[in-house]
Amino acid sequence: MGTFELISKHGDHEEIIFCHDKTVGLKAIIAIHNTALGPALGGTRMWNYKTEDEALVDVLRLSKGMTYKASAAGLNLGGGKAVIIGDPKTQKSEGLFRAFGQFVNSLNGKYITAEDVGTGEMDMEYIFMETPWVTGIPKDFGGSGDPSPYTAHGVLMGIKASVKEKLKTDSLKGVRIAVQGLGNVGSNVVKYLVQEGADIIVTDIDPDRVKKYVNEFKVRATHPEEILFTECDVLSPNAMGAVINDQTINKLKCQIVAGGANNQLLEPRHGDELKAKGILYAPDYVVNAGGLMNVFVELEGYSPDRAFDKTKKVYDNVMKVFEISKRDHIGTHTAADRLAEERIKTIGHLKQRHPGKSASRVFSTLKEVNNR
Ligand code: NAD
Repeated sequence: MGTFELISKHGDHEEIIFCHDKTVGLKAIIAIHNTALGPALGGTRMWNYKTEDEALVDVLRLSKGMTYKASAAGLNLGGGKAVIIGDPKTQKSEGLFRAFGQFVNSLNGKYITAEDVGTGEMDMEYIFMETPWVTGIPKDFGGSGDPSPYTAHGVLMGIKASVKEKLKTDSLKGVRIAVQGLGNVGSNVVKYLVQEGADIIVTDIDPDRVKKYVNEFKVRATHPEEILFTECDVLSPNAMGAVINDQTINKLKCQIVAGGANNQLLEPRHGDELKAKGILYAPDYVVNAGGLMNVFVELEGYSPDRAFDKTKKVYDNVMKVFEISKRDHIGTHTAADRLAEERIKTIGHLKQRHPGKSASRVFSTLKEVNNR
């Protein structure tokens, strides 16, 4: 398949930028999917893609996902993403990231980058040397640092909304919650759930993490192969994607699935199957938007309190998804897409008439940073 055919097959992107610098060995692609709501924001992934087409498909898919995530989160941001082709363990250099930063800069704020799989704080520092259009930068540089606690707080809000919807209660006291994954997000989710008095069972493939958090939070643990099939009220996937699939779906013993992991459904039809089984699914990208909300606050001028406050919005957003699901008799995964599309249509239309306040605030803050 030709490059342009591949691009049109994977969505109606506004702009695709191929970045090449022979001297530093840079081969990267920036995809701007949609800027109807504001500048396109999304991280830069560095990955050893087998082919350039594989990298292109990945960046097209991920940037579209960011459009939906930002819109459903109620943020004035569009969707974009970048991929750098190369081995993050052996092919990183100052020159590579600064050259990439110059490409980002050339887009004049239409695309704002951040960390993603394979890139870290040091890489963002190099990009920041060339462009202000980078967020999620380290605290030492006036940034917001690690987004995971904010993501986790949003996950807590997603769980609370789901419990309200399905179990008709505002309290998590005694609610049985199975948490898969005790990494940056999962460990913080457990911390919040302990404060709420939930009845928690955890797992991780790393036994040291399990030992640490079982001791710290006084929670029960189970084997990684058993967590998905544990009898519970809420299953909270916070490890990897595709946990809801043909092999697992009929063995689930939960009433709700609500967690921070990306791409929990192997295929969209698994969302319909959850609905048919009476299991309430809180769509992953609505639930895990707390980290994105945190970097948005960084663009406005960072305040940890404001960022924390913003993540409370996840509760309302998840509730809106449930309303659309009931209104249109569709699975919640489809309802989330509909929520995002409806907002792009309505607000995007308004923005055509007037650029709006929030977007200009983002720009002026970043320009200020640039002039320091
Ligand atoms: P992480 O790497 O810090 O943690 C993942 C944890 O899951 C690790 O402790 C790992 O050992 C464990 N794990 C892996 N496979 C497992 C399995 N089969 N069973 C049990 N445990 C397993 O990652 P993270 O930052 O905590 O992110 C977790 C998920 O949330 C990912 O899907 C990520 O894409 C998503 N997410 C994270 C953020 C964020 O702010 N960090 C934001 C949005 C979405």
